Amino acid sequence: MVECKVPELPSRVEEVASMARNIGYDVLEVIVQKRKSVHHSTCLGPGKLVEIRKLVEEKDIEYVIFANTLPSSQVFKVQRQLGGDVKVIDRNLLILEVFDKRAMTKEAKLQIRLARLRYTFSWGREFLRLEGILGEQVGWSGPGDYPYSEYEREARKRISRLEAELRDLYRKKDLIRERRHELGFPIVALAGYTQSGKTTFFNRLASEEKNVGLGPFTTLSTVARRVTVPSNDGNTQFMLVDSIGLIEDMHPIILKAFNTTLGEITQADLILLFVDVGEDLSDLTRKLASTDKTLRQTGVTSRIIVCANKIDRASQDHLEMALKEIGRYFSGAPVLQISALTGKGVNNLLSKIVSELKETAVKTSA
Ligand code: GDP
Ligand code: MG
Repeated sequence: MVECKVPELPSRVEEVASMARNIGYDVLEVIVQKRKSVHHSTCLGPGKLVEIRKLVEEKDIEYVIFANTLPSSQVFKVQRQLGGDVKVIDRNLLILEVFDKRAMTKEAKLQIRLARLRYTFSWGREFLRLEGILGEQVGWSGPGDYPYSEYEREARKRISRLEAELRDLYRKKDLIRERRHELGFPIVALAGYTQSGKTTFFNRLASEEKNVGLGPFTTLSTVARRVTVPSNDGNTQFMLVDSIGLIEDMHPIILKAFNTTLGEITQADLILLFVDVGEDLSDLTRKLASTDKTLRQTGVTSRIIVCANKIDRASQDHLEMALKEIGRYFSGAPVLQISALTGKGVNNLLSKIVSELKETAVKTSA
């Protein structure tokens, strides 16, 4: 995991590392280079790249992931300097990979493929110029000596095929709501910023459940688990969905894919909105404001429980101020204090989920 950190922009390396771990990358090294500005053709300086190249060889590293956005030609230039078979990915491609792992509907999957094609579209020219061949990252596999116009024509064709497939889908509507009816139990979706603790919570609950009961929906197994909460008046079951996180500073090309993937949770019966109360108040407030906005834009009407997570790392004073901020933005929603890491407050949250689901069920059948 590498980053070129410049003074005017916040560091993204922790966020990107956390996304990468969430989808199964084993992060071996985190390297941050501070510079006045990014290097014009390779983002990191040449000396740093030599250093990384050594590491890549020593540790047999497969991927070098940039927390920065790399302009079109840089990926290939960097890849060349790092040598060997190492794959270079930037923040936006990683985000798309996260979306892809979390997406449940065909529509979202297609939007993601479309975004990837659009995002890498202009890379073709650079890549051809540098290598004279086409690589997998620009949507083609296998070598060949294609002229640029041919690449472009083919890429455009692929894009319009995807667009046509999407138009077709809108007519059919592959909705998660239908799945819910087939599954026979309600859906509880996790929302909130990347790094707020959603996957930690998901794994905590999912580890207690065997991965059964999703029937024909085995493709959901990485993102959805059935959870059973026992109580005196019978068990409550629901499907817990680990959706994509909200992300700051998203590249415009991938926004649509984001909206579609996030839009899947508008069908949820209940949303658990994760907020990291260990964060600085200014970060917290900024994120609360944009969460509120994003959920509205996505058309979320589901009931929300705010999970004030990471109470283990917030002082009492800080926690109180954080709760006040949460109350300003989500005044109608219940707020529960938890630590997904230590498990504190989790049972309490489960009881709350059960009672909220009962209320929703009553309302829906009324
Ligand atoms: P996600 O991006 O929302 O899925 O967040 P993750 O579950 O991947 O968590 C991001 C980071 O926060 C990880 O390093 C977790 O170990 C840490 N984390 C999650 N929940 C807690 C918590 O309750 N307390 C503390 N101290 N750390 C937590
Ligand atoms: Mg996660």
